[in-house]
Amino acid sequence: MNTGLFRPASVAEALALLARLPEARIIAGGASLVAMINARLVDPAALVTLAGIEELTGIAEAPGGGYRIGAMVRHRDLALQTRFGGTLAVVQMAAVQIANATVRNMGTIGGAVAHADPGLDYPPALIAADAKIEIAGPGGRRQLSAQEFFVDWYATALQPGEMVSAVHLPAARPGVGLYHKLARVSGDYATVSVALTMAHDGEAIDTRVAIGGCGPTPLMIEEVNRLLSGRPSAQDLRRAGELLQDAADPVDDVRGSAEYRLMLIPRMLARAYDEARVRGGAT
Ligand SMILES: Cc1cc2nc3c(=O)[nH]c(=O)nc-3n(C[C@H](O)[C@H](O)[C@H](O)COP(=O)(O)OP(=O)(O)OC[C@H]3O[C@@H](n4cnc5c(N)ncnc54)[C@H](O)[C@@H]3O)c2cc1C
Repeated sequence: MNTGLFRPASVAEALALLARLPEARIIAGGASLVAMINARLVDPAALVTLAGIEELTGIAEAPGGGYRIGAMVRHRDLALQTRFGGTLAVVQMAAVQIANATVRNMGTIGGAVAHADPGLDYPPALIAADAKIEIAGPGGRRQLSAQEFFVDWYATALQPGEMVSAVHLPAARPGVGLYHKLARVSGDYATVSVALTMAHDGEAIDTRVAIGGCGPTPLMIEEVNRLLSGRPSAQDLRRAGELLQDAADPVDDVRGSAEYRLMLIPRMLARAYDEARVRGGAT
């Protein structure tokens, strides 16, 4: 049973509350947490809302390029971003495809990454974009790559008493960023998703791919990125799909069988790769 709602005005105050009340749970947008409370999956002793912390709001341009996205930035605000060009478009494109307008108005990027549901749209997009997650804790601030941050089913590198304070995007690179999601119906979680960035640097082409919905954490394989960078042959593309299939660890659930998900991986990869190549003007 809830015994209290705490509304800190700063990250330091929030961290002090988490240290004092180890059974308390952070609430951000509440989209997932309230559903879990209603379903009696969790029963936090207290809730610490981040809604009053100014530092966690807003999207700031970083001095060397890139952006710092406060943990409380809503999906809606990222979906409406017009500043994310080039490779960073992958993040905006993922935000647009989250659920429906109601959930996008409630949910936050910090809440989504902390929740770490394998069907979420941001995790693969942030990995493809080479984003970093900023963590605030009793020992100060630290940053982890999105790839290091997601560690297992619904599990992240957050330690007790820590919270997500921001997500950092690197400077956009010229090229293409795209996010393809296959869901049973519009607004559902992904059965399988593909996040892909293709950066053009003169003649060089650098491709990064992350697959969502096919295991505990988004799947990114350096060998796949290497195969798809430059000007890959049809055989390279096929090999990349096979490598991802081999490494995937999907489950059977209401959104599709493991077998179906494995079948989708090379098909969705090829479609995303072809679209990126055409949009990027590569031959
Ligand atoms: C009906 C429905 C459909 C959805 N469909 C999709 C979808 O298609 N795609 C998609 O990507 N998502 C989907 N979601 C999830 C949505 O994106 C949520 O908003 C998100 O997962 C959680 O964000 P939140 O801000 O609401 O977090 P909350 O619900 O407030 O919190 C979620 C969890 O994260 C913790 N937490 C929150 N913020 C922080 C923080 N800053 N630091 C540390 N821990 C924190 C909380 O303690 C809790 O455990 C859906 C949700 C619902 C209810």
